[in-house]
Amino acid sequence: MENNTVWTIRKFTCPHCHAISAFDCIFSKRGNFQGEWYPISVWQCHNCDRAIYLTHQTARNNVDAGRNADPFSMLPATQPSVDSRVPKGVADDFIEAAKDYNIASYKSSAVMARRTIQKMCLNLGATKGEKLHKQIAELKANGKLHSDLADIATEIRFLGNDGAHPEDDGLDEVSPEDAKEILDFTAELLDDLYVRPEKVAAMKKKREAKS
Ligand SMILES: [Zn+2]
Repeated sequence: MENNTVWTIRKFTCPHCHAISAFDCIFSKRGNFQGEWYPISVWQCHNCDRAIYLTHQTARNNVDAGRNADPFSMLPATQPSVDSRVPKGVADDFIEAAKDYNIASYKSSAVMARRTIQKMCLNLGATKGEKLHKQIAELKANGKLHSDLADIATEIRFLGNDGAHPEDDGLDEVSPEDAKEILDFTAELLDDLYVRPEKVAAMKKKREAKS
């Protein structure tokens, strides 16, 4: 391994303390494997003093390998978090879906995201045993889901494929993009159902207290 460019201070979202923080590069090397230079580096967070390990874009050329400090991957991966207003059972499944996604287990992530939504629907009183997209539509119809997210649910193919047989579950076709889509959708759904209504209520209370 060779010494690589020691990059100057950079800004990353810290996976330890979750702050958008300045980082110092404290170690930077590049190795050569099968004709490709692969830069690696260790950085230290100004906010919490803990370290992260980055890999960078590989390059054919020794000089190019030192040019780009943008991370290709980061360890530890950012720990997913969920608002404390989301019920625990629902939140736990969502965290697992996000962790699965972070380690590129896309099928598992999609399954856990769908399970999160299933639990959420039951938690809100949707009819048991009904297809998931129908449960979401039901929650919209009875006013428990306030936004157009219910309509989006029907656009997410994987949510509709909840048949009784393994070959109907749509899992064999889950791409990384599909997994990201269902994970982002689930996060929005949780926010819409559990977080935003309480935020609005709190703002209203504050305003009424003032007047
Ligand atoms: Zn930190």
